[in-house]
Amino acid sequence: MNSRTPAASDLISADRERAGCVDKQSEPGTDKPKTGTRGLRRQLRLQEVEKRGESRRGTEPLGVKAVKEPNMSAAPTRKYLLTFDFDETIVNENSDDSVIRAAPSQELPESVRQTFQEGFYNQYMQRVFEYLGDKGVRMQDYLEVYEKIPFSPGMLELFGFLSKNKELFEIILLSDANVFGIESLLRSTGYLSLFRKIFSNPAYFDNRGYLTLEPYHSHGCSQCPANMCKRKILSEYLTERSHEGVEFEKLFYVGDGANDFCPSVVLTSTDVAYPRKNYPMHRMIQKMEEAQPGVYQAKVVPWDSADVIRQCLERQLKQA
Ligand SMILES: [Mg+2]
Repeated sequence: MNSRTPAASDLISADRERAGCVDKQSEPGTDKPKTGTRGLRRQLRLQEVEKRGESRRGTEPLGVKAVKEPNMSAAPTRKYLLTFDFDETIVNENSDDSVIRAAPSQELPESVRQTFQEGFYNQYMQRVFEYLGDKGVRMQDYLEVYEKIPFSPGMLELFGFLSKNKELFEIILLSDANVFGIESLLRSTGYLSLFRKIFSNPAYFDNRGYLTLEPYHSHGCSQCPANMCKRKILSEYLTERSHEGVEFEKLFYVGDGANDFCPSVVLTSTDVAYPRKNYPMHRMIQKMEEAQPGVYQAKVVPWDSADVIRQCLERQLKQA
């Protein structure tokens, strides 16, 4: 996945974080969608981003299914969609690195490490889990590691806030880690039910007792790893919810990696991207804003503590 830890000197103060909460797009009367147009605007944004991707990739097939006209007769649902990444977002580590602690030597041999190829991370992790299985690592060993991975600063307080406001937020999780590890940690802390859906690579224990990993899906996005394009997942999710009559008033996206940048490009000017400060998603947004001003539409609020996200959401609820 992506690498990661920024220098502490790069982090800026909490005051500047709070300043980042000011919505540059929200002067009175400039950005209020007309009633009933929210779903249509979002669908058009998805189509626009897909079209741009298509021209970049020539005739390469698109990863996202064709978007149908939304059902405008459906009753609008006043809900926010909050999307989380997992590694180095919900938790303060890359869980695929954390599991190495289950190995007897707590490290991987060079022969396994050298098999890593850019863009084929899922296959690499399949080999890592195979190696750990060979070394006798079983379900209980994994549980002991996953359940102890530390949360990012402020994340549990953010979860507490979201639990108290569940009727307003629909929450999903998109991760290139694996379902077993994510669910193990969230279940052990009592927050699994906060998430309506978890989209991650399938993982199960085979008849040898080895943790076995599979790719999530295939897609046509040239920017994402072969096993997962989060933009495809998010776009399909929005389309599915739209067909169910659910149109979100705002989308919030919390992430850190390059694979979180790709889905965040579909956000519109009323949505908010929360990139972890100085991590790849944040840097890619900054690069895009420099190279193509105005193309990245979402309001951007970098964070180094999830307190920043909680405070912004609290403010959002007061304004609503
Ligand atoms: Mg991540």
